[in-house]
Amino acid sequence: MQLSLDSPVQFVKGIGPRKGAVLQSNGIETVLELLNYYPRGYLDRSNTIPIGQVSKDVAVTVLGRVLAQGTMYGGRNKRFEIIIGDETGHISLLWFAGHKYLQNRFKKGDLLAATGVVGFYNGYQLAHPEIEPLEDEHAEGVHTGRIVPLYPSNSELTKVGMQSRGFRKAIKYALDNCAEEIDDHLPTAKREELNLPDLTTTIRQIHFPDNDESRESARRRLSFEELAELQFLIMRHKSHIKEIKKTQPLAKHGKMVKQFAESLPFQLTSGQREALKIIYSDMAGDTPMNRLLQGDVGCGKTVVAMAGAVYAAENKRQCAFMAPTELLAEQHYANWSKTLAEIGITSVLLTGSLKTAQRNLIGARIAAGDVQIVFGTHALFSASVQFKRLGLVVIDEQHRFGVAQRAQLIAKGDSPDVLVMSATPIPRTLALTLYGDLDFATIVGLPPGRKPVKTVWRTAADRAKIHKFIAERVANSEQVFIIYPLVQKSENIDLLAAEEAHRELSEKVFPKLRVGLVHGQMKVKQQEKAISEFRAAKTDILVATTVVEVGVDIPRATVMVVEHGERFGLAQLHQLRGRIGRGDKAGYCVAIATPPISPLVRKRLNYFVANSDGFELAEADLKLRGPGEMFGTKQSGSLNFRMVNLSADQDLLEATRSLMESLLASKKEQVSIDHTASNLVQYYERRSALREKIAQVA
Ligand code: ADP
Ligand code: MG
Repeated sequence: MQLSLDSPVQFVKGIGPRKGAVLQSNGIETVLELLNYYPRGYLDRSNTIPIGQVSKDVAVTVLGRVLAQGTMYGGRNKRFEIIIGDETGHISLLWFAGHKYLQNRFKKGDLLAATGVVGFYNGYQLAHPEIEPLEDEHAEGVHTGRIVPLYPSNSELTKVGMQSRGFRKAIKYALDNCAEEIDDHLPTAKREELNLPDLTTTIRQIHFPDNDESRESARRRLSFEELAELQFLIMRHKSHIKEIKKTQPLAKHGKMVKQFAESLPFQLTSGQREALKIIYSDMAGDTPMNRLLQGDVGCGKTVVAMAGAVYAAENKRQCAFMAPTELLAEQHYANWSKTLAEIGITSVLLTGSLKTAQRNLIGARIAAGDVQIVFGTHALFSASVQFKRLGLVVIDEQHRFGVAQRAQLIAKGDSPDVLVMSATPIPRTLALTLYGDLDFATIVGLPPGRKPVKTVWRTAADRAKIHKFIAERVANSEQVFIIYPLVQKSENIDLLAAEEAHRELSEKVFPKLRVGLVHGQMKVKQQEKAISEFRAAKTDILVATTVVEVGVDIPRATVMVVEHGERFGLAQLHQLRGRIGRGDKAGYCVAIATPPISPLVRKRLNYFVANSDGFELAEADLKLRGPGEMFGTKQSGSLNFRMVNLSADQDLLEATRSLMESLLASKKEQVSIDHTASNLVQYYERRSALREKIAQVA
């Protein structure tokens, strides 16, 4: 039988029914799926060194043939040893435990690559190296180039011999027999415009690259495919939203909006006015607003969103104003409810810590439409919260909410307007992948009079000096935040817990000063009390965990000390720094790093010290840490890319977006959509159906 891409994988030479069944239960059913099983990494044989050239304490990869092997009982430990050699020398590979699986695995003369740090004890050795069996250079039918692919495996696959070597053989066979069959859905012209290889070349090169450049080209082509699928979903969602019509558009804004503007103790900046203009025009439009409002920390997003809420209220619509923490919801309510009441808008606070009776009462008022603005947290998601006429959903510091949660809240209204505010600036590539279905607006610039925060980083050795500095600032009636990354001592990382630090600081270091404490595991009422005492200057120093990271606004605080600065990302540090320098006095931010301080940490902290622009820091953070770290793994679900490198593939992201935009537009307009385009739409529709199915399972 002729092998084809659709053939069951068992028909690949060397697989057969038994391995086939295991592959199948691991999601590899057909030859095509086997070809889409990409390497987890590569061994570059040109980067290996002759065994005769190894030296102690250096990380190396060496290649050699098995000369001898055996279990040794001398000394304290039983150990398993394999000696490999090349023409320049030999080295022993040692395992002190967990070596049972190795015992009958190799024959004398087998070719192995071993990676590890060289030790010396009666000769050079590698203890617990990573090893990779390689095929013989001349063995029949199996290709071994300079760059050898390494495949992911698990215990089930390993048991039937499907580790790197098994996959290499099977994939080589599949490529030799079926690669030419792979159909490229992308038109040649488009492909060439983007300088991407065709799919057959791509699949060949991702498995057995000729060189680094061809491997990178193949990666970019596959990255293009991943981005294209995601953008297809996003843009389709976006175009669905744009088809929704509001039942009743908002009237032009009038008295209430004007009164609100007049009640503010400051003038809006031009950046705020620009953003507000866009938001008003969205809200007045006949399709729902779906907008992300960005801006650097402290640029004043809240008041802009509040103006939107007032506009909705003026039009007899309710607004759900959602914050990521109860503390922040409280703060919004405390800051705004009075001003709002003065212009005739009733607002309430709805959080999870309310007593049931209270909650029911407030819930009833919301349902009856007696309340126009509801400040709250996740509690707003609860099914028991019903609005009479929800017209605007504001989600503050959205990156803490999942996309699904967003949809849940929106579903409570009849296609309400949606305004999402990001806590920190988000690099464009990330914004387009995380929030690609939203329109963007950016508040440019900060309110006048903000002094730059003087930022330094220090090590623990300077702590005494820092304490002296803190005492001086407090003597000058300023206030100080001291931030700790964790609440409790974790078992393996020796962190100073905030509680311990609080005790130490208040009893020993600053016995004469008033030191408050707030962390996420305290009751919300306690947290509020600590914050409001700090706000009222009843305490001088507030020891806190990252509960104060976002949004907390204390104008008199001028010093921000961040303990374990090495544990924070740039965006987070910048967010913390944004808590100070809000009043008219200069602010100081000190990040204290605890050894070991890696070069990467050093780089990050130096960058933080040198830069005060949130957008630049966000870009750098993405480059240094990657998207998964920048946002917790929870929100980066859609960022689980296999081939995409967001900081290197910006051009591809833009290209896939415009491609999808034009494809979906031509489809919608039903213009005589040409054959290729319609094929492409169909292709991505199929792929995205698959992706959605996978997402549901995951
Ligand atoms: P963020 O954009 O980080 O959420 P906030 O909305 O919390 O910032 O605003 C930060 C601080 O700036 C608040 O104290 C707010 O009252 C103040 N603020 C906002 N807009 C202005 C303005 N136009 N002029 C002066 N102060 C402003
Ligand atoms: Mg804010």
